[in-house]
Amino acid sequence: METKQFKAESKRLLDLMINSIYTNKEIFLRELISNASDALDKLYYNSLTNSKIDVKKEDLKINIEINKTKRTITIEDNGVGMTKEELETNLGTIAQSGSFSFKESNEKKEDIDIIGNFGVGFYSAFMVAKKVEVISKKVEEEKAYKWSSSGAEGYTIQEANKETEGTKIILYIKENSEEEKYDDFLEEYKIQEIVKKYSDYIRYPIIMEVTRRELKEGSKDEYIDKKEEETLNSMIPIWKKDKKDVSNEEYESFYMTKFADFEKPAKTIFLSIEGGISYKALLYIPSHLPYDYYTKEYEKGLQLYSNGVLIMDKCKELLPDYFGFVKGLVDSQDLSLNISREMLQHDRQLKVIAKSIEKKIKSELLNLLKTEREEYEKIFKTFGTQLKFGVYNNFGINKDNLKDLIMFYSSTEKKLVTLSEYVSRMKESQEKIYYAAGETIDKIDMLPQVEGVKDKGYEILYLTENIDEFVIQVLGSYNEKGFSNVSANDVNLESKEEKEKLQRKNEENKDMFAVMKEAITEVQEIRFTNRLKNHPVCLTTEGAISVEMEKVLNSMPNNQNIKAQTILEINENHPIAEKLKSIYASDKELLKKYAKVLYSDAKLIEGLSLDNPTEFSNLICELITK
Ligand code: ADP
Repeated sequence: METKQFKAESKRLLDLMINSIYTNKEIFLRELISNASDALDKLYYNSLTNSKIDVKKEDLKINIEINKTKRTITIEDNGVGMTKEELETNLGTIAQSGSFSFKESNEKKEDIDIIGNFGVGFYSAFMVAKKVEVISKKVEEEKAYKWSSSGAEGYTIQEANKETEGTKIILYIKENSEEEKYDDFLEEYKIQEIVKKYSDYIRYPIIMEVTRRELKEGSKDEYIDKKEEETLNSMIPIWKKDKKDVSNEEYESFYMTKFADFEKPAKTIFLSIEGGISYKALLYIPSHLPYDYYTKEYEKGLQLYSNGVLIMDKCKELLPDYFGFVKGLVDSQDLSLNISREMLQHDRQLKVIAKSIEKKIKSELLNLLKTEREEYEKIFKTFGTQLKFGVYNNFGINKDNLKDLIMFYSSTEKKLVTLSEYVSRMKESQEKIYYAAGETIDKIDMLPQVEGVKDKGYEILYLTENIDEFVIQVLGSYNEKGFSNVSANDVNLESKEEKEKLQRKNEENKDMFAVMKEAITEVQEIRFTNRLKNHPVCLTTEGAISVEMEKVLNSMPNNQNIKAQTILEINENHPIAEKLKSIYASDKELLKKYAKVLYSDAKLIEGLSLDNPTEFSNLICELITK
């Protein structure tokens, strides 16, 4: 029989599983049961639309069998089953990602990260088993097949005998090692305990033969062992239980199983609405970005149940894009079971549910911001970009809804702050919300323009993400306070006298600036400024497009070569000002060279690249050797 190789990434994952130092090995059972439950869901769902499939809900179940002598655990379901091809694609490759590359390290942290990122599912069987067999018969198919693998060397698939439809997974449990007592997994009590812990809510019975010790009939001290089938789980979906009867840990562990996440969620939200449309929702904000979040493959949406029966895995109509990171489910008895995707889009009930869910998520986030700020900041660091896109998209149609959820780094608080917090701290004379944009907080902090505004005692918001300035522009104002880029020329921090004095100086030197401008045609204007404290030059902008926005826009695929309208400002109080004046009097060609160097300086400070670095370096050499 031919042994087939696993896809490279699957092999890496398998290796990790087989040699896992991950201590929580018992989760293998949770993963396999959850797969079995999905398979039962699928079969039941198929039967609703396919009259040839005859399924009675009460017949659907999951069986577990332990065989101590053979050292096996068998998990069997009578769900949809898999065809030969499905066995191959589902179990031979990692379904979730074709592009994730594993790090070449076996450090514990990464081991766990990888287990977490993938929610490894089926492969977790190899944490406890040296060999795994999957015998499956797909519904409506003639033949059954057996997939078998002893780990990383590969797997085989062959025809098999199986009368009933569904899937049977046989785990050949490893021998005890120094670190792990695998024998435990062959104990009834252990399996009972694990099922109760992770899979209690599974809506299908999980049945196992359990040994009961009873007094022998007619005897007072003689016992006999009786085997009895027992349903190990309570089968009540966790979201149908009263909130007071469910611990936070149970909600979290449900999340981890259901949404294949190794990490606990950052926030759990439970909703039970009675009224016009009744529904229950269990929502989670993950504590990290899903690994495929920024890919086309990521689908937002909540699971949709109609009275406990899954009708859709990812109902995207239930979440606005900006809350697309929220995971969870909604269950309503007011929805029809046979609802189709097209119908859903127009479904009034669904729209009502979606609106109320959106409101709830927002109010929970605001509440978190107020009461557990650190927790909120963590969430914002993970999903803030998404919220900002929410403000920006569709010309700001949702901006009022989201403006209190976004945060920026503050120059005075040295941490993330909200716009509302900024405004509450504004000085009486302060008219604008000041901000500065750049690549990093450190780089912004070094901008000459920033120093000037900071020096006057104002708080500045540091915008480090590409989207940030566009967000500010879409917002336009916050609580009637406009925004002002410290690099724009309308910052307006000087007194009337200072302004007039500067204007006079600029007027007096306008011929000199005209000569300089001949050398640098890209700038709109050259002039003196008194906004710079110690620095000689800076680049400021006029109009809607800032230098940072120019960078962002031009890095986009369909860039239109948009230019910010820039002004070269020279510190009037810096020795360079006098120097320029004296060169203007003696050597106009030399002045042009100075102008070029100063302009290049200003561009470099802004993080812009020079059109002609060679000329710049030659000029510097020429000037210092003079
Ligand atoms: P996931 O469940 O996250 O998709 P798994 O590795 O656990 O990943 O399983 C891969 C796929 O194999 C599943 O998506 C499913 O299609 C299939 N599968 C696993 N177990 C079963 C089962 N008991 N019955 C039918 N299909 C199954």
